[in-house]
Amino acid sequence: MYNPASKKAEEFINHEEITETLSYAEKNKRNVELIDAILEKARERKGLSHREAAVLLDCDIEEKNQEMFALAEQIKKDFYGNRIVLFAPLYLSNYCINGCTYCPYHLKNKHIARKKLTQADIEREVIALQDIGHKRLAIESGEDPKMNPIEYILESIETIYGIKHKNGAIRRVNVNIAATTVENYRKLRNAGIGTYILFQETYHKESYLQLHPSGPKHDYDYHTEAMDRAMEGGIDDVGLGVLFGLDKYRYEFTGLLMHAEHLEAVFGVGPHTISVPRLCPADDIDVADFSNALADDIFEKLVACIRISVPYTGMIVSTRESQKSRERVLHLGISQISGGSRTSVGGYSEPEPAYENSAQFDVSDTRSLDEVIHWLMEMEYIPSFCTACYREGRTGDRFMSLCKSGKILNCCHPNALMTLQEYLSDYASPETKELGEKLIAKELKRIPREKTREITEKNLELIAKGEGRDFRF
Ligand code: SF4
Ligand code: SF4
Repeated sequence: MYNPASKKAEEFINHEEITETLSYAEKNKRNVELIDAILEKARERKGLSHREAAVLLDCDIEEKNQEMFALAEQIKKDFYGNRIVLFAPLYLSNYCINGCTYCPYHLKNKHIARKKLTQADIEREVIALQDIGHKRLAIESGEDPKMNPIEYILESIETIYGIKHKNGAIRRVNVNIAATTVENYRKLRNAGIGTYILFQETYHKESYLQLHPSGPKHDYDYHTEAMDRAMEGGIDDVGLGVLFGLDKYRYEFTGLLMHAEHLEAVFGVGPHTISVPRLCPADDIDVADFSNALADDIFEKLVACIRISVPYTGMIVSTRESQKSRERVLHLGISQISGGSRTSVGGYSEPEPAYENSAQFDVSDTRSLDEVIHWLMEMEYIPSFCTACYREGRTGDRFMSLCKSGKILNCCHPNALMTLQEYLSDYASPETKELGEKLIAKELKRIPREKTREITEKNLELIAKGEGRDFRF
């Protein structure tokens, strides 16, 4: 029985409700009156139910689809302006005892190079990341209680936050590790993590069990209920995602929105972020083996429909996507991207030799962070390294109410400019610096409150002169 407020996986991600939703969407995909009514509701920017959203996703009327894309772009602008937040993944260890059939870190892969960073290795990696300008990391690790126990993760977080190299600092560590206990989530919260990210991979239970034939991750319910435990452990900001391509995208989309509705129903706060990874090639993984792999046009529509349905949530796309694909989805709702990423263990301080491969997936967008920043600014986006909210205690429902009311924008825009100025002063190439300073001068005029504008201007000068860092609203 479907119940979004239930704590049981099978009740809040209910298979019957999803199949009924999909047939409702199929029946109504050309129902112009209903589609117009749903679009009208979406224009209020309060989000859509999974049923309404599924109708939009299924709709194949070109004119209506164009309306959806335009609305997604407008909502993106209203909530996020032209800012794009930058982050980098940091792989700590690829030891893993699970059997996920789509990931090269699975236990049976005997030829992939297995690596685990020591604290000294982490220090080297973090310095390399700071030296290219990163301030926000997502740490990643395989599931292996012996090799990667929670103590190792906690120690690594402490190491990362503790490194201050030149003007560099990692100011927010998001964590992407396997589903764990309330007690461990509490430890992560106390270690000062930003968002806890866990991809569901697929919401389709039968497929999930086949795709995860062995290891603790085989337990679908434990995995699906992980965000509830994270929130019970005091983590306010959680990040959802599915690996598109494992099962049918309509099913995944509906499950994803039901998961967001569940978090709202139980905790009063939806997901802080939604990631949209697509299956991509890796060491012993061939995308051709997966019949549900997603075409570009469907991927774009998914991004637009998520943006319309959950307007307040941050949306993340990684370097799994090519430059071209990232360019397209930036317009449709993406607010956060990775840049200059290495998906191998220890790839930042020293590139892996050709005979060794410890990467989780092949990076499609291989440009440097500076190239990514330059590219964003050429398209008139403001690259932002802002991490202010969590450090100002604006998390969970406090963050969401500021976000939903639009008040957060008074912070995001000046913070983006000040953190961009830090990047330009400390790390940018001359061309990027020149372009960035012009952009900042233009954007400064768009800060509506005079007082905020004055403070920002003063801080920008101090940063440029090397007399101050880490200002924030
Ligand atoms: S997806 Fe995660 S749990 Fe599965 S094999 Fe890869 S690292 Fe391990
Ligand atoms: S002010 Fe908060 S919401 Fe805005 S960019 Fe910074 S961290 Fe994100």
